[in-house]
Amino acid sequence: MAQLIDGKKISKEIKDELKEKVAAYKAQGKTAALAVIQVGEDPASSVYVNNKKKACEYIGIESLEFHLPEAITENELLVQIDKLNKDDKVNGILVQLPLPKHIDEEKVIQAISPQKDVDGFHPQSVGALTIGQKGFVSCTPAGIIELLKRSGIEIAGKECVVIGRSNIVGKPMALLLLRENGTVTIAHSKTADLRQVTKRADILVVAVGKPKMIDSSYVKEGAVVIDVGIHRNAENKLCGDVDFDDVVEHVSAITPVPGGVGPMTIAMLMHNCVSTMA
Ligand code: NAD
Repeated sequence: MAQLIDGKKISKEIKDELKEKVAAYKAQGKTAALAVIQVGEDPASSVYVNNKKKACEYIGIESLEFHLPEAITENELLVQIDKLNKDDKVNGILVQLPLPKHIDEEKVIQAISPQKDVDGFHPQSVGALTIGQKGFVSCTPAGIIELLKRSGIEIAGKECVVIGRSNIVGKPMALLLLRENGTVTIAHSKTADLRQVTKRADILVVAVGKPKMIDSSYVKEGAVVIDVGIHRNAENKLCGDVDFDDVVEHVSAITPVPGGVGPMTIAMLMHNCVSTMA
């Protein structure tokens, strides 16, 4: 029987630990506030922003919402970020992505002070991760490391394969697995023989963005499979990048969708915010 890696339970554990830490910091007179900027009315973004607000309330930090109109210019948004960079009451700044097409996301990410970059997307944060220095780590991959550790899954010395090389998941995931002493391979859309690569994996992290693409033919018997994907299928049900039903009999541990990686992203965002209170 495969171990079901319970992201709901583990993310709750982390949030409860953070809640205690925040209370202790508050007792020392320290406070924290997360500024969340949303541009436009994308319904999925509104759900994410609302979940972040609820998580802040739960652990006891202030969330400051900046809901800006779709038509805002890039410059107006940059001015808003600059104000928040200079505001001592604000410890973390997050700009909900995606942004409307007329705004350059790269420019916006780079405008956030690296000291307040709780999403870990700023080039300085990514650079720090690459050379093993202190800095904010992108929340979804950081959450996956927590899932593995708290489920008792050893990373050191293991063959780790990450499918996907995006800046927010694939690349930082590979770097974090390397930091934990895994032997890491990144597979991507130009990988010549994907199965041959993924079949080597003791730990397979799938961030391919294609519903149920990874079935048991890609997976080594007894592997640990982490499914980062989130999609809605034809019946409006959530599913991942992994064909869970086909794979589950062949693995030693697996994350479900929903209830696996998803809840960890916000938990790690809260972890990054609380780390600014130290
Ligand atoms: P992305 O589209 O930016 O990247 C997908 C990657 O998959 C690319 O690097 C590409 O090279 C690779 N790829 C595409 N087709 C391939 C193929 N046929 N074979 C091998 N590689 C292939 O996506 P992303 O932002 O990294 O997200 C990946 C998935 O994770 C999406 O489903 C997204 O919704 C989900 N996601 C979930 C969370 C969460 O909190 N759970 C957070 C971020 C992303």
